[in-house]
Parts: sequence; C-alpha cells; structure tokens
Amino acid sequence: MNNRVRVSVLGATGSVGVSTLDVVNSRAPGAPEFSVVALTANTNVEALAEAAIYTRAEIAVIADMSLYGLLKSLLAGSGVEAAAGHMAIVEAASRPAEVVVAGIVGIAGLPATLAAIRQGNNVALANKESMVCAGPLLRQEALLTGARLLPIDSEHNAIFQVLDRPERVEKLILTASGGPFRTASLSEMAAATPEQATAHPNWDMGAKISVDCATMMNKGLELIEAAYLFDVPEDRIDVLVHPQSIIHSLVSYDDGSVLAQLGMPDMRTPISYALSWPNRMPLPGLERLDLAKIGRLEFALPDPQRFPALGLARRAVSAGGGAPVVLNGANEVAVAAFLQSRIGFLTIAQVAGEVLNEFLHGQPAVDPSGFDDVYELDRWARQRTIERLRLAA
Ligand code: NDP
Repeated sequence: MNNRVRVSVLGATGSVGVSTLDVVNSRAPGAPEFSVVALTANTNVEALAEAAIYTRAEIAVIADMSLYGLLKSLLAGSGVEAAAGHMAIVEAASRPAEVVVAGIVGIAGLPATLAAIRQGNNVALANKESMVCAGPLLRQEALLTGARLLPIDSEHNAIFQVLDRPERVEKLILTASGGPFRTASLSEMAAATPEQATAHPNWDMGAKISVDCATMMNKGLELIEAAYLFDVPEDRIDVLVHPQSIIHSLVSYDDGSVLAQLGMPDMRTPISYALSWPNRMPLPGLERLDLAKIGRLEFALPDPQRFPALGLARRAVSAGGGAPVVLNGANEVAVAAFLQSRIGFLTIAQVAGEVLNEFLHGQPAVDPSGFDDVYELDRWARQRTIERLRLAA
C-alpha cells in the first residue's frame, strides 16, 4: 500500500491533533503517503504555525481573529497560506481531502464537521459533541454526499473494527476506565480539584474530556454517540468499567460470540485505523500489548450513585429530540466553570441534570429539525446553566 491521502486536521494543536500529526509524520514503510491540506487551532498560534510548516500544509487557520497578523508573520516565506476566524475554519474543512480529522473540542466543532461532510470528505470523528448534538442530522448529510463517518474515539473505533454483521448484534458494550475517581468516596469527589480531576490514570487528553472522564459524563456522551453512529437503541448499549483500558469495547452477537478490540491505550492506533481505512497502516514505534505482563483484566458495573452523569445521558438519548443537545450544552458550561474553580466537582452533573429536567418537564420538547435548532437549543441550555450556577453561587 502506498496511496496518497490528503488529510486535514481540525484542532491540530490539541491532544487528538498532535497524535494525528504523529501518525501522519510517521512515514513507516507501507504507510500511506499523507499530504496535509489544512490545520486549524483556536489560540495556540505558535504550535499551529510550527506544525503547518513542518507538515507543509496548504493552509493554517487560527479561530481567534486577533492572532491573524501573528500567524501570517510566523508563516512568512513558508508557502503556507494563513487565515483566521470560524468561517475560515469551515472553509478549510470543506477543502477536498480524503479524510478530515474532527479534533475540535465541544459543539464548537460542529460547523466544521458538517462542512467536511457536506463536501463529501470522510470524517475521522473525535469531536463526539458534534455527534451527540446532531447525530441524526450529520448521518443524513453523510448519506447525501457519501462521506463516511470513521470513529476515532477508541471505544467506537473498537466497535467499528469488529462490527461485521450489524443485523446480528445483540449488544454493544462500551468499556470505561472509571477515571481518576473510580474508587473515590463521594466526599473525596465533592472536594476534588481541577488538577485531580484531569489526572487520568491511563490516557493523556485535553482538559474537558479529562473532566468528563472523571464524572463519567464522557461515557454518557459516548453512549449517545454510539447510539447515533451505529443505530443501536440505548437499552442495547451496556457500560462496563475496565480499569486497565486494554479492551476498548465489545460487540455481543446473537450466536453468543463476543468480539472485542484490544490494544495499549494509545490514540495513535484508532487514529491510524481511521486515516488508513479501509486498510491498516503500520505503527512500528508503538508499545505492543503484552497480556502476560499485564496479567489481569478487571471488570465492574458503574456506580450510579457516584456517577449520575451516565444515567442522565441514558435519559437524554431515550427522550431524544433536543435532550442530548441540552445535556451537552449544560455540561460544557459546568465543566468550564469547574476548571476555573468556580463550582465544585459534583455540581457538574447536578446542574446538568437540573437543566435537562427543566427541558424535559418544561415546554413541549422541540425536535431539532435542522442545525439552527441545534444551535438555538445549545444557547438555551448554556444560558439556563449560567443562570443556575449564578443562583447557586
Ligand atoms: P484538546 O483540548 O486537547 O484540543 C482541542 C483542539 O481544538 C485544540 O486544537 C484547540 O485549539 C481547538 N479548539 C478548542 N476550542 C476551539 C474553538 N472554539 N474553535 C476552534 N478550535 C478550537 O482536546 P482533545 O484533543 O482532548 O479532544 C478533542 C475532541 O476529541 C473532543 O471532542 C474529545 O471528546 C475527543 N476525544 C479526545 C480524545 C483524547 O485522547 N484526547 C479521545 C477521544 C475523543 P488551541 O490549542 O488553540 O486551544
């Protein structure tokens, strides 16, 4: 295999973005020949410029318009085009490419993910919040253009790798590490600091997803993502705590077979699978799984008392309509407030639950029939969360 693959990386300076560029730059014999179309970032202009020059990207885009001048001067003479602003990110995502890596965090990534799909580019999807908020709409768009949604989230990527007969699936089983507070008491969790909550035992990730892992809202968002991506109802998706993060997820078939994908917890494996799909590519530098060395794999059910976020996600996805958008928006605001030490750790799931309840019991639920409805609901959820957090302050 030595095909040429044009790739764009949205969120190139983040954890997923950096792992993606590592794969792109690995150049092992037998790997595809990658050429970089677009790289984007929010404010991290130096890292963006450095990556764009190194990978000889066509264009580098910074979301923060005030950094345009600096980006331009950093790229001067390199041949890399500079651009700034959210519309420029959308434009970059719609440049033709074999695969666009959606690595922006939060619903902020939705417009660019949508633009890539509308162009007919395959999307390697890390930005789970896009799928949570607009899964059915994005799938519909992908059907229209023929774009493939290739999951990068390790759990969904694992399922994607072993899902050969979707019509025979009994259950999807998402594994969860349990995060840094897997064995913590409620009072320890109540006093948790942002530093403790972002110290994930197995994965090195951005701050927002790390906090989501600590509350297990991440597993809730993943459950919604899985329901939409694989078209499986919530009550046929189980969550299993597996602290070693070696089994990345499982699919249970109606003949009693359970297929799983295993590997070391390293995002470069699922990323490489999405970038080289439908083939595989070699990653010679990666640590190999040694089960004898690991010795023991453990499993347990999640504790709904200490991790109520998972139940909220189940409620949201079974209610359907705009409920997942509301849960996601409330969670994004609450996580940001926690990271600024403005609220306690347990308040995150508490306020997200309150806003979800208000939505579900309030006015008749609005079904988002288009992307404008999604953004409108997201704004409503954010506003209600801010108001509730102010009340609580
Ligand atoms: P990071 O916070 O590390 O990186 C986020 C990236 O998005 C950065 O490049 C950042 O730019 C950019 N960005 C942030 N906000 C905006 C915005 N408003 N507009 C445009 N660009 C923006 O996050 P992760 O890489 O950890 O996560 C990215 C996504 O992937 C999330 O949805 C997460 O849930 C998902 N994911 C992550 C995994 C991981 O291992 N990290 C695993 C599975 C899924 P800048 O650097 O300039 O701030």
